[in-house]
Parts: sequence; C-alpha cells; structure tokens
Amino acid sequence: MESYKTVIIGSGPAGYTAAIYLSRANMQPLLLEGIQPGGQLTTTTLIENFPGFADGVDANQLMGQMRQQALNLGTQIRAGVVTKVDLSVRPFRLTIDETAEIEAESLIVATGAAAKYLGLPSETKFRGMGVSACATCDGFFYRKRDVAVVGGGDTACEEATYLATLCRQVYMIVRKPFLRASQAMQQRVFATPNIEVLFEYNTAEVLGDQTAGVTGIRIRKTDGSERTLDVAGLFLAIGHHPSTELFEGQLELDDEGYIRVEAGTSRTSVEGVFAAGDVKDPHYRQAIAAAGSGCVAALDCERYLRSRR
Ligand code: NDP
Repeated sequence: MESYKTVIIGSGPAGYTAAIYLSRANMQPLLLEGIQPGGQLTTTTLIENFPGFADGVDANQLMGQMRQQALNLGTQIRAGVVTKVDLSVRPFRLTIDETAEIEAESLIVATGAAAKYLGLPSETKFRGMGVSACATCDGFFYRKRDVAVVGGGDTACEEATYLATLCRQVYMIVRKPFLRASQAMQQRVFATPNIEVLFEYNTAEVLGDQTAGVTGIRIRKTDGSERTLDVAGLFLAIGHHPSTELFEGQLELDDEGYIRVEAGTSRTSVEGVFAAGDVKDPHYRQAIAAAGSGCVAALDCERYLRSRR
C-alpha cells in the first residue's frame, strides 16, 4: 500500500497553501483534488480582494497558479475523491474513488463548504451570470444597480447591508414573517434606507437571457400572489454545507457539521488530523482567510510529524 507522511484532502486555497508549506518543509505531501478541483473559487470570475493583484485576478488563474506552485515545490497532486477514511487506525487509512487504498501518518482536511442554492433550474442557468452566493466576491459588479438577497439569517443581513453600500436598491426575500438574524443585524437592515425586506416571499423563478444575464426575479407570497422585481443580481444567503460527511463519527463536529478545532490552532479531536479553510470556518469564508488557515495547518502538521521522529 502507498504510504505518505501527510495527505491533504481538498484543492482550494487552504489545501494548496498547506501543500506549498509542507513541500517546502520536505514532508512530500500528497494532495487529493476532490470533486471540484480548485474549490469554490472556480465558480466565480474576477477576484479583486486577494492581496497581491492590483488589478484583480481571474479566479481560475489564481487557483491554477497555486496548483502549479505546489507542484513546482514537489507536491504530488492526484485527481480523485476520498470515499472513505479510517481515523481509528495508525497510520490513517484512506480509500480513493472507492478502490485505491493509501496510508497517511497525518492528514489535513481542507474539503471546504458549499453554498446552498434553492434548486431552481433557472437559478442554475444563471449561476455566475447574475446568480451568486457571495456578495463580498461579486457585489462590486452590481454597483448602482438593483439586486435581491434571499435569506433572513445573519449572512443575508450582512450581505444586504454590504450590497446597500454599492447598489441602488436591495430587496431581501425572506420566507418567514420575521428575520432569523441577531437583533443587531436586524437593526442595521431596518436602518438602511435602500434595503426593502419582503417577508413571506419565496423565489419562484430567475428571469433573464444569455446575453444580459439576470434581469429580474418572480417571487411568490405565501398567500399565492406574485410579483416581479427588476434586479440584475440575485444573491443566495441561505446557508452553507461543510463537506464533512466522511468524518461523521470520527472527528468532533459542531451542530452545523463544521470540524471543531482547538482554539487558535488547526488541531482536531484526533491527534495528527488538522483542519483548514471553510470546513472549520462558518464565519469568514474568504479565500485569503482559507489560505492563511492552510498555512497554520501545515505548520501544526509539520511540528506534529517532527515530534514523532
Ligand atoms: P442561517 O441558517 O442562520 O440562516 C439561513 C436563512 O436562509 C434563514 O433565514 C432561512 O430561513 C433561509 N433559508 C434557508 N433555506 C431556504 C430556502 N430554501 N428558501 C428560502 N430561504 C431559506 O444561515 P447564515 O448563513 O445566515 O448563518 C450561519 C451561522 O453563521 C449562524 O449561526 C449565524 O449567526 C452565523 N453568522 C454570524 C455572522 C456574524 O456574527 N457577523 C455573520 C454571518 C453568519 P428560515 O429562518 O425560514 O429557516
């Protein structure tokens, strides 16, 4: 069986950063790319808030550069999805694509999280063409235009207030007659003149065409009445799923399924397993934050491996 000092699961900014650091520390990591090589960023286009790129950078190009940097420094990168993990044995045992088995002395989990979408066919059609799940990433493209945010939690309120600083009008589409967000966030929303909260509405359809992208949304109230909003952007803020199914019952997870780490470190409940990026971070969810936490995980992992020699 193939055996590695360290295996990194995930190919977003957290995974690649961990790979870069561990390769430079001569730990010969294997990085498994997973179901979405390059991670969540590859679903967006221009990134203007990743430091070091004065004019912004194309998301796929950025991820391509991180991948190449890891390869240049000696990381082995393999396509494939980890389908089973056994953390009860030493070395840890991983199954890739249901077939190949490998062993790892240590593990960095950087499997990320995925934004939840409504599941409408029209929403899928316009993803990246007006439909987004990240206001911080894409809000800038809707300056002085009208947009809608779906959701009534803290994220939706935060995204709406952020968008209100850029856009002309922001509509919040909330399915309940109240917001679930904290009082402080609610107050900010209600105090912002260009946010209108539409309670008891669900999104029925995203309208648009392939040239202009999104041009509006059709929303339906709980009493069955409908209205159309002319918006250029639709932001989903209905929560994220951390990709931790593989680790259920093996690593300590919080109520939402995010991996619990020891405060200020990347150490999980199993010695030798470290977590980095969105898989352990329900709050910040930014590429640069994920990259930083990949660095932290690599340093923790390197210390762990050296302490065993
Ligand atoms: P939440 O789960 O708190 O809220 C999700 C929102 O989306 C709810 O209003 C929910 O409605 C709505 N929703 C879910 N599914 C659908 C659907 N299919 N159609 C329409 N609406 C839907 O997620 P958040 O991402 O807002 O927050 C996650 C965690 O992160 C929370 O603990 C939050 O407090 C925290 N957070 C904290 C921040 C801060 O402190 N600054 C900032 C951002 C997040 P319903 O209420 O009806 O279920």
